[in-house]
Amino acid sequence: MNTKENNEAKKTEKGKLIEDNGKRLDGRNLDELRKIQMKVGVLNRAAGSAYVEWGKNKILVGVYGPREAQPRHIQNPLKGIIQATYNMASFSVSDRKRPGPDRRSTEISKIISRALEASILSESFPRTTIDIYLEVLEADAGTRCASLTAASLALADAGIPMKDMVVSCAAGKVDDRVVLDLMKEEDNCGQADLPVAILPKSGEIVLMQLDGHLTGEEFEKAVSLAMDGCKKVYEMQKEALMKSVGKVI
Ligand code: ADP
Repeated sequence: MNTKENNEAKKTEKGKLIEDNGKRLDGRNLDELRKIQMKVGVLNRAAGSAYVEWGKNKILVGVYGPREAQPRHIQNPLKGIIQATYNMASFSVSDRKRPGPDRRSTEISKIISRALEASILSESFPRTTIDIYLEVLEADAGTRCASLTAASLALADAGIPMKDMVVSCAAGKVDDRVVLDLMKEEDNCGQADLPVAILPKSGEIVLMQLDGHLTGEEFEKAVSLAMDGCKKVYEMQKEALMKSVGKVI
């Protein structure tokens, strides 16, 4: 463990996640996102792909299709099926995670599929599926938000017609304060986590979950903070796409 991690562990032991100067354990302000990096077009065999580093999260997404839905009885003659599969690698967390699907990954796959469906113009490709594989290589809380954001980038890279990008970010409550984008220590020892995803052009909310307790006032503050975070992440998504287009030209 390096010195910084050591200090963080010590402070966490003291039970304090926000210091007297208002800074969080990783030095962030309450309304500050973790450092985010995005790259598009990282897999050759995928129709579209993206790699996102969001704080200590590392996530790779590949999009395959639209391709004929198999077996044929699952085909929808009116629209394509969106199938996201979220997987956390066994080496992605400090204690080895048991490989394979579990209740949590099934839930996250479902909510990501539903959120993306709200944006994808799936009537354009009936009888097909679009398969989206989300591989969490390293996890440090907020992986559903980072994965959803990366999936939308990969879909755009694949040229899938969409109303808008889907962009996601969480807010929550830590040491009785509403904060943006919780990291692992805050997620573990905090009081609430509220992941939100929006279509930024319309402001439509396509995902909202709440783990923990918030008062009405805190809830409103957290939603507004998460939406502001989403808008910042949206700018990064656009920048990553522009860079990849620039490379092709
Ligand atoms: P999210 O990653 O979207 O915040 P959770 O709140 O369920 O989703 O998980 C928070 C964090 O807890 C994950 O990002 C990961 O770091 C850790 N975690 C989740 N599942 C496991 C697991 N099975 N083993 C170890 N750590 C886990």
